[in-house]
Amino acid sequence: MEKPAIIDHLFSDFLKEHKVQVDILREDLLHPQISGNKYWKLKYFIKEAQEKNYNTLISFGGAYSNHIHALAYTGKKFGFKTIGIIRGEELAAKERNPTLYDAEQYGMKLDFISRKDYKMRFDTKFLDTIKKKHPNSLIIPEGGAGDTGEKGVVDMIGRIQNISQYNYILVCSGTSTTAIGIAKAVKDSETKVITVPALNLRQTLLNVNDRLVKYGIDPLISWQEYTFGGYGKFPDELRSFCKDFQKEYNILPDPVYTSKGLYGLLDKISQGYFKKGTKILFVHTGGLQGWRGYNKLSD
Ligand SMILES: *Cc1c(COP(=O)(O)O)cnc(C)c1O
Repeated sequence: MEKPAIIDHLFSDFLKEHKVQVDILREDLLHPQISGNKYWKLKYFIKEAQEKNYNTLISFGGAYSNHIHALAYTGKKFGFKTIGIIRGEELAAKERNPTLYDAEQYGMKLDFISRKDYKMRFDTKFLDTIKKKHPNSLIIPEGGAGDTGEKGVVDMIGRIQNISQYNYILVCSGTSTTAIGIAKAVKDSETKVITVPALNLRQTLLNVNDRLVKYGIDPLISWQEYTFGGYGKFPDELRSFCKDFQKEYNILPDPVYTSKGLYGLLDKISQGYFKKGTKILFVHTGGLQGWRGYNKLSD
């Protein structure tokens, strides 16, 4: 599963003119089914489940969750049963979307619950009842969040030689687990971490930064103006951006996360946010399976 890091340099007149270097860490190429950060966040959960001899992995997600998709595949690959607890009981009777269709194909059992119950996913009593029902299982928080998930992300960055050459590492956020893991990985260097949330994470990021500062780690810089209306929102402007970006650089962003991050990055560069000679590493966290939930990039 783990491969050496692939880093591409972006070349364009636009970047030349602004005298910044943008490199892309191609975690979208990690694996055809488990792209990007999702594998890294699952890594130490799998290890824990192996060490404790559990036979089942359980986690939470929405109907389009890349995390659920990755868990279903990874679980199968490592010989675990998997259960996905999915937000929205009304979905149980409906035809599966591509994400959930795959998950079932990989052997995951889907358990659809109401939005009200889904809100309890961090509640210890609620988790205890799940654990009682499935005693031989590891319950993984939504998005692989927390120390265990962050530890795998530290490994993702650890593969890169010379990471301290970068002034900034940019990554998109849902739970912020990946961004926190990156901040932990570069804590002893001058490299700063910028996150572009794909949904409104104002409060989450305040909490995240409190936690980081307590660890003696620099807080994340966040650009909160590129959510495009919220999670899963994909207006025409963003769709055309993806098309143009792919044409110019031959790299396809995903519709939910990296499209917003790359849009934000190029926007800030055009505003002169970075001084001349700045080196930036953008983490392409994958998520390309998400395109199937949207119309393709047709002309
Ligand atoms: C899940 C996901 C993210 C967000 O990762 P978090 O660790 O939850 O912040 C970013 N990009 C892609 C493509 C994802 O699938």
